Amino acid sequence: MTEGKRTPAQWQAGWHTHARPIHSPNFGQRPEGACIDLIVLHSISLPPGQYGGPEIEALFTNTLDWNAHPYFQQIRGTEVSAHFVIRRSGEMLQFVSCDARAWHAGRSHYRGRDNCNDDSIGIELEGLEGDTFTPAQYAQLQTLCQNIATHYPIAHIAGHEHIAPGRKQDPGPGFDWVFLQHSLGWPAHFFPLTAA
Ligand SMILES: [Zn+2]
Repeated sequence: MTEGKRTPAQWQAGWHTHARPIHSPNFGQRPEGACIDLIVLHSISLPPGQYGGPEIEALFTNTLDWNAHPYFQQIRGTEVSAHFVIRRSGEMLQFVSCDARAWHAGRSHYRGRDNCNDDSIGIELEGLEGDTFTPAQYAQLQTLCQNIATHYPIAHIAGHEHIAPGRKQDPGPGFDWVFLQHSLGWPAHFFPLTAA
């Protein structure tokens, strides 16, 4: 199949063809007519601060051994997912079709709407609140955001900390929003208001 520039070949039924697919059972239907205009950025590492292991994939596929680390007791039984995970190496994994509703935001409110899972795309950066992120992650994130924006009417990008303030702190102060804005070239009103 040949496709023109207006319909990039990198998407098939909400799956990005450049991401490694790992199907999570933790998803549902989006509400009828949902306008997918928000990208939510997160950070995750399991156990916190340890990078490169298989635990994130295990969590998102409900196969994590809750007894393998004391921290896992705090999240025992959690059924969560995100659309994408970008590892420290820049490798990109996809767990849920972007046409479906992943379970990453929880109780949340942004741009005048509740339940951000309904109409957002969630991207987890392997990392830790307060830690920095790698150049490979920023490069992959930039490409992914631009690809998403060719396919969905993105008008906002925010952190979990912005859509669930006081409850969530990721991706945290180590994430460089200014760098992302400059690299994407998206207008300032797409981005969360900062205190500065
Ligand atoms: Zn988060």
